[in-house]
Amino acid sequence: MFSWLHRLKAGLSRTRGQLVSLFTGRKIDEAFLEELETTLLMADCGIEVTETLMARIRERIKRDRLEAAESLRQVLADELETLLAPLEAPLDVSVAHPFVIMVAGVNGAGKTTSIGKLARWYQAQGKKVMLAAGDTFRAAAREQLVIWGERNGVPVIAQEKGDPAAVAFDAVQAAKARGYDVLIVDTAGRLPTQLHLMEEIAKVRRVIQKAEPSAPHEVLLVLDANIGQNAIAQAEAFDKAIGVTGFILTKLDGTAKGGVIAALAKRLPKPVRFVGVGEGVDDLRPFVARDFVAALVG
Ligand code: GDP
Repeated sequence: MFSWLHRLKAGLSRTRGQLVSLFTGRKIDEAFLEELETTLLMADCGIEVTETLMARIRERIKRDRLEAAESLRQVLADELETLLAPLEAPLDVSVAHPFVIMVAGVNGAGKTTSIGKLARWYQAQGKKVMLAAGDTFRAAAREQLVIWGERNGVPVIAQEKGDPAAVAFDAVQAAKARGYDVLIVDTAGRLPTQLHLMEEIAKVRRVIQKAEPSAPHEVLLVLDANIGQNAIAQAEAFDKAIGVTGFILTKLDGTAKGGVIAALAKRLPKPVRFVGVGEGVDDLRPFVARDFVAALVG
């Protein structure tokens, strides 16, 4: 059985392989630096991050009179870690009872799966977890959550054909009345271009706050790591609508290039609370910058 770190490494192996082979046996010259720049762009780091990293690398080459490309591997790892370390901020759910987490994202990002994993994660820490099936558009999504809840002994607040804001309101009331520690509110998948749906999710947020003025305590955006730079546009649009406080980056076990996390760190530096490294219920882990950089740069 692969550990989650193995899965992360396997997922990022293509980018790592490209970087490692680039660094091996080469001398630092302009051609090498151009190839490195292209590799960083191909890894989804984005133009801003790539330019910053390249400027830092050039500085280090000059300062330390570096000649062998191999010596840049550690330089790149250090720079990436400096960039990503601030994103490592685990979610402390003990600061409120119930601690209300609202979860958003586009369809297929891995929202429902991640909610199941999150519930499991907090259950394992002895927390009493409740779910709210706020995806009232897709009956299948509601059922998926209800079935999952039944199997795992987690109550799910759901309404047939309900209004998502009403489901969220009821769930907050129920979690408060019944003394739950963590309430996770699902929302329907939507694209930032669907303006009426973005307005609807903003309303869900407002109604949660009406039910409990300190809530939501966390607004998580689930992003598929394989969508590259699109993740940035999605994150900015959701942030504008609902004030994102953290990310879950999913499918890092897949063909993800990994650099998108660096691009996010630059453009929208908010915590990456968790990373998804598989479809299994235990395949969700808090983000650890050092592990991530080791998986990416080798
Ligand atoms: P939603 O539409 O955002 O709720 O997405 P789902 O939770 O239904 O997930 C969409 C697909 O992505 C499903 O097949 C999941 O099993 C899969 N998935 C979700 N997270 C991960 C992950 O971290 N790794 C992999 N490999 N698959 C994932």
